[in-house]
Amino acid sequence: MTRPLCLICHRGRLWQSRFVTTHVLAIDQGTTSTRAIVFNHAGVPIASGQREHRQVTPAPGWVEHDPLEIWDATRDVVAQALAAANLTRADLAAVGITNQRETTVVWDRVTGQPVHPAIVWQDTRSQAIVDRLAQGPDAELVRHATGLPLATYFAGTKLMWILENVPGVRQRAQAGEVLFGTVDSWLVWNLTGGPDGGIHVTDVTNASRTLLMDLETLDWREELLAALDVPRTMLPAIRSSSEVYGRARVPVLAGVPIAGILGDQQAAAFGQAAFDAGDTKSTYGTGNFLLVSTGERIVRSQHGLITTVAYRLGDAPARYALEGSVAVTGSLVQWLRDQLGLVDSAPEIEALAGTVADNGGVFVVPAFSGLFAPYWRPDARGVIVGLTHFVGKGHIARAVLEATAFQTVDVLEAAQADVGMRLSELRVDGGMTANGLLMQVQADLLGVDVVRPSVAQTTALGAAYAAGLAVGYWESLEQVRENWREGARWSPAMPPGEATALTGQWHRAVERSLGWVE
Ligand code: ADP
Repeated sequence: MTRPLCLICHRGRLWQSRFVTTHVLAIDQGTTSTRAIVFNHAGVPIASGQREHRQVTPAPGWVEHDPLEIWDATRDVVAQALAAANLTRADLAAVGITNQRETTVVWDRVTGQPVHPAIVWQDTRSQAIVDRLAQGPDAELVRHATGLPLATYFAGTKLMWILENVPGVRQRAQAGEVLFGTVDSWLVWNLTGGPDGGIHVTDVTNASRTLLMDLETLDWREELLAALDVPRTMLPAIRSSSEVYGRARVPVLAGVPIAGILGDQQAAAFGQAAFDAGDTKSTYGTGNFLLVSTGERIVRSQHGLITTVAYRLGDAPARYALEGSVAVTGSLVQWLRDQLGLVDSAPEIEALAGTVADNGGVFVVPAFSGLFAPYWRPDARGVIVGLTHFVGKGHIARAVLEATAFQTVDVLEAAQADVGMRLSELRVDGGMTANGLLMQVQADLLGVDVVRPSVAQTTALGAAYAAGLAVGYWESLEQVRENWREGARWSPAMPPGEATALTGQWHRAVERSLGWVE
């Protein structure tokens, strides 16, 4: 199709960029799959592409991805989404990126080859490094400056592992030959030319998960680099979450501005229009992640939560959040499916759990990688407690779903204690929110309404908004907020005393999981 020329200037380009760029594309590079979604101006998804990638587990506690497979999937899903929408790159005002956070990539800047597989956020191989840091003189400085507990979860200790264990990498890093990035950096570098002039950037939300960025200055801090012994030359430049970083040079997107980067949980909060202090969302995916916005205030948790950057738009002050990160929720359902074979697909768990009226006294504590927030106990391991002859697979399925709800109660209570507020309702999103039984249990245990928006893909939507705001496709946060629509609501139906008693039993089950690994 030939496009008509601009009516004002009679040149095609301006017409295209000012009048025809009708959509924004989001790339959502997740833990299990990569998606590309095309959104229109109302924030409604028009078309998408999706591809899974391999989960490589070479040893207990180790989880790896192949960065080249992810990059290949990215180009593929972008092409799929554009084809399904019947659009081309010329129709796109901008591209936004959201990504699995903390997953660590180190690559050769000349060849573009990774020096090691990506070490995924769930990977616990850096525990000995964490223990060393925790006993070292800088432990308190690192915690205070970054807002993070010392845990294998964060990118910095995974990067240390690569620097210490992959021969030659430290020397090559010092010589400026290899680059570090979380997955956002890896994708932007490749999208903008790779070895041929690719730009090496990350955004404040991803950088805030490395143990290397100071929450106040929003820059890498020398003492932190020294404490973790990371050469500065390999680090990306830290930019805001919403600005034009550069233009794509890969054919499928050539010329389109890359204008938004947000870590996946921050993107979901942004897509839920949780912009202001007190706004809260919980995402139910592989793991669960609660974010409570604290506005421009940096709140250091007294109750086991993480302090994180929520977003930064251009030069405006950064916004912060408290985060409750729960490692294992949806992946427990996958475990029930893949390792136990109790269901053939994840959604089937709802029918199985619905065969019983309650959990029959069973509690599952899925401490597969230890417990994250609010406990931070690497010595915990999974337990199933309360078994009797009465218990059947329906009870186990129910206890598996309830484990997600109880863990969310724990992090929400921690957040409420930190900021001194009571939540009036909880905004939710993510794959597990398709499970109505779980959502009802969640409302029952929390004692507040649980609300899901009409657009379930909030993570991709948040990245689209960040990119679209940077290029003027959307004008303001207000306009974005107006796009939010309620899709479903669950109200508490359980007597509060019963919810309190169940939560008490859950806490006793959690105690049983602690101290298992010596
Ligand atoms: P991520 O973005 O972390 O990859 P998703 O938001 O796509 O995750 O959610 C996928 C997770 O949700 C999987 O772990 C899967 O087991 C779980 N899940 C998907 N559908 C259901 C369902 N109907 N009931 C319970 N769990 C589900």
